[in-house]
Amino acid sequence: MSQEALRKQLEERLAQMQARLASIKEEVTQSHSGDSAEQAQERENDEVVDAIGNETAQSIRILQAALMRLEDGTYGICERCGEEISDGRLAVIPEATRCVNCAD
Ligand SMILES: [Zn+2]
Repeated sequence: MSQEALRKQLEERLAQMQARLASIKEEVTQSHSGDSAEQAQERENDEVVDAIGNETAQSIRILQAALMRLEDGTYGICERCGEEISDGRLAVIPEATRCVNCAD
């Protein structure tokens, strides 16, 4: 995949994640409006929404980091051993920071 195509793909996913995070935040804000009698249920929902929100925020950071590596030319280099990450692996996990040997 060309770097340009890759950048586009990462940017699209980043935009999706940011839109998702925005809608999650909106949901949380809405659930706190009004004086519902089901506040315990609402709190439970909030926890689920929080977990999804945290996961989404984490994905955003990972995608932003991948885009930064594209910018500074370190994209596709294993952060542990310094070898190139295989194209096959990057095709499956474009935001991978480690080669298959160093992956957890
Ligand atoms: Zn490695």
